[in-house]
Amino acid sequence: MTTLNWSGNVRFGARSVESPADLAQLRRLVTGNERVRALGSRHSFNAIADTDGVLIDLSRLDVPYEIDEDAGSAWVPAAARYAEIAATVDRRGLALRNMGSLPHISVGGAIATGTHGSGDGNRILGASVTGLEIVRADGRLDTIERDDPRLAGSIVGLGALGITTRVRLELVPSFDVRQDIFLGAPWGEVLDGFDAVMGAGYSVSLFIAEWGTDVVDQVWVKTVTDATNAEPALPPGVTAERATRQIGPIASGPADSVTPQLGVPGRWLDRLPHFRRDAPPSNAGDELQSEYFVARQDAPAALLALRALAASIAPVLLVSEVRSIAADELWLSGAYGRETIALHFTWRNDPDGVAALLPTIEAALAPFDARPHWGKLSAAGGGTTVDRYPKGGDFRALVAAEDPDGRFTNPYLERVLA
Ligand SMILES: Cc1cc2nc3c(=O)[nH]c(=O)nc-3n(C[C@H](O)[C@H](O)[C@H](O)COP(=O)(O)OP(=O)(O)OC[C@H]3O[C@@H](n4cnc5c(N)ncnc54)[C@H](O)[C@@H]3O)c2cc1C
Repeated sequence: MTTLNWSGNVRFGARSVESPADLAQLRRLVTGNERVRALGSRHSFNAIADTDGVLIDLSRLDVPYEIDEDAGSAWVPAAARYAEIAATVDRRGLALRNMGSLPHISVGGAIATGTHGSGDGNRILGASVTGLEIVRADGRLDTIERDDPRLAGSIVGLGALGITTRVRLELVPSFDVRQDIFLGAPWGEVLDGFDAVMGAGYSVSLFIAEWGTDVVDQVWVKTVTDATNAEPALPPGVTAERATRQIGPIASGPADSVTPQLGVPGRWLDRLPHFRRDAPPSNAGDELQSEYFVARQDAPAALLALRALAASIAPVLLVSEVRSIAADELWLSGAYGRETIALHFTWRNDPDGVAALLPTIEAALAPFDARPHWGKLSAAGGGTTVDRYPKGGDFRALVAAEDPDGRFTNPYLERVLA
């Protein structure tokens, strides 16, 4: 078995990767193997998806879309990539409230790891989930609906609760968005007006190429366009130049993989993700990634703590991104119970250099109770013990109830559930 994750830093240890065509085959695979895990689009950077048993790729599974325009919701296949889901619901005049930076990932994998986009009013992507269909360890197809107390614990489920076959998403009426990029915003001004900067649009990202310089290199402002089509701007007191050419987060890299900018309005699905669906995202996989979530009120101090590490970070950094996320009640969400700021690092493809640096970063962020992203690299090898979360004990009990024999477990889960 030589299956690798997208960035090539994880070699899966599974005996085989199986692609069931229907539910009956999927159930047989689950009950007929001691260890199984679902595999999404393989975009996680740690071994969360791995197993020494059988990996199940659901992309051939025949499960239908079911779109309810009146209710503003849709059942979608868990293996569907966001690009496909977005195009499908947009054709019916509907939209996802938000998207991550890339539309290449599967909804099943994205919600399992707490994937998010940005925006003060936008929760993580899984917060739009109102129902799940899951094949359990005994082969039973279980449906969890909105009124089921297990739903809040099952969405960011780390793949520990079964194989999700379909996901019901809450949708909103389709809308248009424009992207405006501002260059060279002085750090002092950004920190003084931090809340206003992060609130300057529907979704705002700060990109930092070097933590030690005086400026935040790029501020991306995504704005929902309305009839007035007013020109988006950074708040008064923040001086930055409006970009006059298309630019990627890694400024020296190609700008043709990013979605249209320069204030040109377009459909939500072609503007909310940073990266185009038909191009390789980010640094095309020649990279590693880490991310930490801190409470919003701690963000300016956490950013200063990272700036103090600029010299150590510089040799391994491609780019950092800072985003905001609204608080939610999903048990293992990085934004559980607190308005959140996400501190992200796209690293050079230097596994040893990154591994050596992560403990230093985590020590600097420890005073802020920083929660690592479940799908990215952290010092422990990815993730963190669920006890760092207020509802972690409830999650452990849910796993014990739904998977008593550990069919869906792996070393990553053993560590975070220990
Ligand atoms: C270039 C790049 C950009 C990224 N940008 C963002 C971003 O903007 N925001 C963000 O938060 N993250 C981001 N990520 C991280 C990414 O969203 C997560 O790693 C996400 O989990 C990837 O989804 P996937 O389908 O590839 O899942 P995989 O990596 O394949 O799997 C992740 C986990 O989900 C489980 N899983 C997958 N499918 C199912 C299923 N059907 N049933 C049960 N469990 C399942 C797997 O078992 C595994 O445990 C980015 C990653 C890359 C490579």
